[in-house]
Amino acid sequence: MKKKEIERISQRLISKPKLVWDAIDEREKKRVFDFDKGYQDFLNKAKTEREAVNVISDIALKNGFPSNPSSTYPIRLMKAFQGKSIALSVSGDKPIDEGINLIVSHLDSPRLDLKQNPLYEDVDLAFMKTHYYGGIKKFQWLTRPLAIHGRIIRSDGSSLDIVVGEDDADPVFTVADILPHLAKKVQYDKKVSDAFVAEKLNLMVGSLPFGDKDTKERFKLAILNLLNERYGLIEEDLISAELEVVPAGKARDVGWDRGLTGAYGHDDRSCVFTSLRAVVDIRNPHKTALILFVDKEEIGSDGATGAKSRFLESVLADLMIAHGKQPLYHEIQKILMNSRAISADGNGALDPDFQDVHEKRNAARLGYGVCLVKFTGSGGKYGANDANAEYVGWLRNLFNKKKVVWQAAELGKVDEGGGGTVAKFLATYGMQIVDCGPSILSMHAPFEIAHKADIYMTYKAYRAFLES
Ligand code: MN
Ligand code: MN
Repeated sequence: MKKKEIERISQRLISKPKLVWDAIDEREKKRVFDFDKGYQDFLNKAKTEREAVNVISDIALKNGFPSNPSSTYPIRLMKAFQGKSIALSVSGDKPIDEGINLIVSHLDSPRLDLKQNPLYEDVDLAFMKTHYYGGIKKFQWLTRPLAIHGRIIRSDGSSLDIVVGEDDADPVFTVADILPHLAKKVQYDKKVSDAFVAEKLNLMVGSLPFGDKDTKERFKLAILNLLNERYGLIEEDLISAELEVVPAGKARDVGWDRGLTGAYGHDDRSCVFTSLRAVVDIRNPHKTALILFVDKEEIGSDGATGAKSRFLESVLADLMIAHGKQPLYHEIQKILMNSRAISADGNGALDPDFQDVHEKRNAARLGYGVCLVKFTGSGGKYGANDANAEYVGWLRNLFNKKKVVWQAAELGKVDEGGGGTVAKFLATYGMQIVDCGPSILSMHAPFEIAHKADIYMTYKAYRAFLES
């Protein structure tokens, strides 16, 4: 057999992931960078789940998604819940009973929350106690500028939203760390998991005293006085507050060539933004498109605004009414069982310095497009939603047809660790669902890395799915 013939056969038979940059033309390369500008803007404005809901509803309103539709059969609908989860839908030509195309992503990211009694003083400095949220490596949160975002409910019932640490004129906050000269016993000689203690993640918030030297708790009082003068707060108000401590600063281009984006919260706002753009951009889909943004994924999807809640059922009931149907429960079940879904979430990218934790044939690579993750979970696939071959087959053929650059991926080596996402909770409704999203380096770190080409391909994948 001639060399050329062998090459032809090999090209036809062997499955090889493609670099997005090798697969797209100059026009599309420009689109990759244009798309990223909007994405970075979104990342900067939506650093908490509440902020994300606000930004999403602003964008949705501008694009004709009313929350209180005036027409009888509205094409576009929006429904938010408790300010922490939100759904957008575009009605399709086909009857809703034939099922919908659903994309679910999560709005929350790992962070430090302030405790309910946060404020104290120690060695003439004022601090706020934190309680970390989600899976963080604690040492990554030390000695870096941090911002406080969140909501406080005051004694009179009024609410106050604050963001401090993002504007150049703002102060920032920080968690200090022991100097290397004295770290031997308390850190170096210990296991990493023992060396960094949650109760030492104390946020430095003040250093100037109040009153004279006989005043009790002068440093704490100074901060309370300042908060009172500025916001009308008293200490008890902090109990009815959700204050989130996140890395201060904006998303940035990474690398000489600017091909990567570094930011807090790619997991999972990359999927949030790409699915949002996809639903805004589609016109006249065949099936009804529904985009669901949920909270609490990083802590197990429990709670009223998490994926285990009944919010989806309520959104579907609204949709049925909008379509002139009675929202009977077994009808809602029927729709869900006939539906196709994407659990849109970031996947761990092959780490160049820790390649041994990955099994390279099945590891996600930065720059190779959106990942199709048939199952998540850990060990013997525990806690996995293992998508059906039929569904994976349908989706991969769709992606190929629509020139979406994609790769098949699994989180790490078997028995190396693992993780899960919202797919398994939605799968309980009987819908077809699979994980699909970009790969991310340094996932759950204060500064995560994503490839701009992957973000763009994720958008393209979600749009192709919604238009199918
Ligand atoms: Mn995630
Ligand atoms: Mn996560």
